Amino acid sequence: MKRYENLQLLAEKAESSFLQYYKKNKKRLMKMDTIVQQLHEDVSAEIDCLSCANCCRTLGPAIYDKDIERMAKALRIKPAEVAARYLRTDEDGDHVFQSMPCPFLLPDNYCSIYEARPKACREYPHTDRKRFEQIYKLTVKNSATCPIAYEVLSRLINK
Ligand code: SF4
Ligand code: SF4
Repeated sequence: MKRYENLQLLAEKAESSFLQYYKKNKKRLMKMDTIVQQLHEDVSAEIDCLSCANCCRTLGPAIYDKDIERMAKALRIKPAEVAARYLRTDEDGDHVFQSMPCPFLLPDNYCSIYEARPKACREYPHTDRKRFEQIYKLTVKNSATCPIAYEVLSRLINK
């Protein structure tokens, strides 16, 4: 993951090219889901999340009631106890972890509740989502944290 050690800087440098591409190709992007999904698969096969864990260290996923129920079951405690021990309400009214890095992130970057992790964790960085044009700008933002998001955009704009 050495290549992405300065990811924030790389993403800052690339930001205007990423946004310019969006401006020029907004309509074309609507028909590019298959290409983006292939890029997502290629890049995900090359980048090892266990050597990264940036998202688990820095981003607070939104956590919904279904997530809390699943986590409670896995932790064998009551949902209210999950909320009391691990969660707070953020400025948008969503449940998020009380602090980051995530309390379930282990020293070897594994997730201790992997099977029961929140939906937002499963879906991040969303680069395999349909209608990619709708989350393009979010992906530009994510590219400063997530090497997969950065790499998918970098390859896409050079297609
Ligand atoms: S619950 Fe697991 S996948 Fe989600 S942020 Fe925490 S360690 Fe990462
Ligand atoms: S999803 Fe992105 S930020 Fe999270 S561990 Fe994988 S490469 Fe890193």
